[in-house]
Amino acid sequence: MIAERDGKMYDVIIIGGGVVGSSIARELSKYDIKVLLIEKEDDVASGGASKANSAILHAGYDPVPGTLKAKLNVRGNEMFDELCKDLDVPMKRVGSLVAAFSQDEVDSLYKLYDRGLKNGVKNMSIISSDMVKEIEPNINDTIVAALYAKTAGIICPYGFVIALAENAAQNGVEFVFNQEVVSIDREDDVFRVKTQDSEYFSKYVVNAAGLYADVINNMVSDKHFSIHPRKGEYLILDKEEGYLANTVIFQVPTKMGKGILVSPTVDGNLLIGPTSEDIFNKEFRKTTYKGLEKAIKGAKKSVEKFNERKTITQFTGVRAVPDVDGEDFIIGESDVKGFINVAGIESPGFTSSPAIAEMVREILKDAGLKMAEKDNFNPKRKPVIRFNELTDEERNELIKREPAYGKIICRCETVTEGEIIDAIRRPVGAKSIDGVKRRVRAGMGRCQGGFCSPRVLEILSRELNVDPLSVTKFGGNSNILTAKAKEYVANLYKELLKSEV
Ligand SMILES: Cc1cc2nc3c(=O)[nH]c(=O)nc-3n(C[C@H](O)[C@H](O)[C@H](O)COP(=O)(O)OP(=O)(O)OC[C@H]3O[C@@H](n4cnc5c(N)ncnc54)[C@H](O)[C@@H]3O)c2cc1C
Repeated sequence: MIAERDGKMYDVIIIGGGVVGSSIARELSKYDIKVLLIEKEDDVASGGASKANSAILHAGYDPVPGTLKAKLNVRGNEMFDELCKDLDVPMKRVGSLVAAFSQDEVDSLYKLYDRGLKNGVKNMSIISSDMVKEIEPNINDTIVAALYAKTAGIICPYGFVIALAENAAQNGVEFVFNQEVVSIDREDDVFRVKTQDSEYFSKYVVNAAGLYADVINNMVSDKHFSIHPRKGEYLILDKEEGYLANTVIFQVPTKMGKGILVSPTVDGNLLIGPTSEDIFNKEFRKTTYKGLEKAIKGAKKSVEKFNERKTITQFTGVRAVPDVDGEDFIIGESDVKGFINVAGIESPGFTSSPAIAEMVREILKDAGLKMAEKDNFNPKRKPVIRFNELTDEERNELIKREPAYGKIICRCETVTEGEIIDAIRRPVGAKSIDGVKRRVRAGMGRCQGGFCSPRVLEILSRELNVDPLSVTKFGGNSNILTAKAKEYVANLYKELLKSEV
């Protein structure tokens, strides 16, 4: 067995390339240890909640004081300024409002404010309707008061995960994609992690598999738990509607979540949603007429003025709700030595992720992993060129140096060929149409890829040196093209002749 392990032996294997797995990977990349991240999809932030959520950096007044959620939310929120600077990820501290539209709801604001104080949230206040109107001129006139939290922010969720993964890879973490962990066993203090077509070995395993963290835990531990899916549907409106919200406008939360919000996105669109509905199928990702109608109706309680006909796309995110007592994250070494669960990471999981990574680092240390700091850890990701943010002068200089930046591929979002090539060539680079879209926004505008997708496909095929027929939308069997037109017609003709004979 030892010989078989050669080359596939790691100190730590992380299962799952969402924001949690990728944050942990980046944190561990600061140390002189061998780390592997295994992801079942073809990319990070591709298979779970980290690509489809509200993208809010919560201030931290919502979780119950004393819980991990409360502690990690507030700590995580604080960490984003430095992280986003180092990783060159757009983030805006726009602040959030919990809007009360009745006196009963105002009472809830005081409860949230109190919780916030206990959790250590800074820069919070309860403000009058006049002050709310100053901040949000388009909020409905029925507003009574709001809890204003200045530390809340908005971010591009997949952009952040991609940046974490890139930086972790730059610092030596290995990634394997399209590998689904199907079994784990332990022999001589070493875990054997099997995927559908390979196996890897490690002394420690970190389970960050999101909705499937129960399945992974139950492969190893006798202490089983389960996770059920709860979906949330959203709409994204055209940038023309982006002016309608300056901050994240929440409503008073209920047991099912933080309610329906109206928020600007970091790219200037308007986001409305999510609904909250328990479902049975973890893979259910469709939006429904009923769900979207509910999101629209709910959001109109806060801001009536938006025009839902300006919707450019819609999506569903699925929460990983653990069926255990309490409503906290499940983070810690399990009953199996060296096997660490990071499960049930519902909201505010995104905000908490950098703090979760610090906590996991300490758990690994306590579990006996020797972690010497690297001398050459580089916290900075190579900056990304965003053509549409450059001045004319900068653009001209860039095009002279690299002519591929002179070819616009996505007209809606002004994305150039140079940016797409860079997204493919970077560490943990894009391999599919959606991978490119999540990195550079080609296909995220009004036409939703109607014009640029064929050209992105050509670039992917050329850069990855693969047949255009094998380029996918998001990995697996999501191929875009099924046959070459001429061959297709010739085959059809042959079949036709055969049937006539
Ligand atoms: C509707 C909604 C709104 C939210 N809004 C916010 C918000 O505004 N702010 C906030 O802070 N948080 C928010 N959250 C929570 C946040 O999105 C999650 O806490 C976070 O994304 C969880 O990250 P994760 O890495 O644990 O899981 P995921 O992102 O789901 O990643 C898990 C990964 O594991 C992989 N995987 C699963 N099984 C296997 C296997 N067998 N082998 C290999 N890989 C596997 C999956 O493919 C996936 O990529 C929201 C969540 C939802 C659903």
